[in-house]
Amino acid sequence: MEERILDPNESPQDIEENDNPLRPQTLEEYVGQEKVKENLRVFIEAAKLRKEPLDHVLLYGPPGLGKTTLSMIIAKELGVNIRITSGPAIEKPGDLAALLTNLSHGDVLFIDEIHRLSRAVEEILYPAMEDFSIDIVTGKGQMATSYHLPLPKFTLIGATTRAGQLTAPLRDRFGVILRLDMYTPEELARIIKRSASILGIKISEEGALEIASRSRSTPRIANRLLKRVRDFAQVLNSGEITYNISKTALDKLGVDEIGLDSNDRRLLETMISFYGGGPVGLETIAAAIGEEAVTIEDVYEPFLMQIGFLSRTPRGRCVTPAAYLHLGYKNPNLSNEQCSFLDNKN
Ligand code: ADP
Repeated sequence: MEERILDPNESPQDIEENDNPLRPQTLEEYVGQEKVKENLRVFIEAAKLRKEPLDHVLLYGPPGLGKTTLSMIIAKELGVNIRITSGPAIEKPGDLAALLTNLSHGDVLFIDEIHRLSRAVEEILYPAMEDFSIDIVTGKGQMATSYHLPLPKFTLIGATTRAGQLTAPLRDRFGVILRLDMYTPEELARIIKRSASILGIKISEEGALEIASRSRSTPRIANRLLKRVRDFAQVLNSGEITYNISKTALDKLGVDEIGLDSNDRRLLETMISFYGGGPVGLETIAAAIGEEAVTIEDVYEPFLMQIGFLSRTPRGRCVTPAAYLHLGYKNPNLSNEQCSFLDNKN
């Protein structure tokens, strides 16, 4: 699959180009997510007053909304170190034991994609989270010896795009569960202006809003589009991003005025022309457009559902009349009873 400019997942280029300078460092700088920030401020303050580690935190929401950034900020505001890893990177219980025993009192361990931990690793994590200890078994059969190892008190921050895929025992061990919301165009425009000033790019209010409204409600995409638009601005307008530059650049990049690209259009068009607009099962869509089902669920669907272009019914996914109209169909298929838009607009 070719690299997609609207992919909310981190690309090597994002890490190399913007990881350090563009990530907000404090809750104050972190744009939006007001409720989450308000709660976190209280929890962080209380933990500091009690001189105790913060309760374990689970952050969930689609990729690129700021889960990793927020975890780094939490550690910073607590004044502790953070270790960053991910579910698939912790292959064996021993890997997790090594991470845990290297923490200091109060440290944050951040596990991205925590729903992808193996069962064996998860089992070690339960007592670590609950009692701050682990039991390690070495050797086999009669030679096996078990060690009880106390751990420093730490805070686990888990991030996931799929809260529903977490096992109940793991979910229950988080004291704080927070959902990150998609961002409004105004919030994204603030992020874009902040990033532009860090990168030394001149940008007008309208230029920022135009990029924001095509960024799929996702800060990572907003920052990426800003950098691509900057290239056009440099060649066409001695570096300054105006509304016209944003519009021309994003049109050329194949990102339409509401943030759909050719992949989204292909998904919707395929559902319309081959399956009458739905209902279609996830696996069927995946096979038809040659994408993995998880990519469709994590990358395409959150945004298409947010803007009301796709709905989920018990029988499968449906294209909504709004999507038909956006794609230029004059007569959306309102009589599609199985998708029943008239009485079910979920
Ligand atoms: P996630 O872990 O949810 O995939 P990240 O925390 O890596 O997302 O965020 C992606 C990028 O978007 C970050 O590098 C950061 O620059 C930017 N970003 C995310 N959330 C915010 C925010 N609330 N304010 C400003 N920039 C943000």
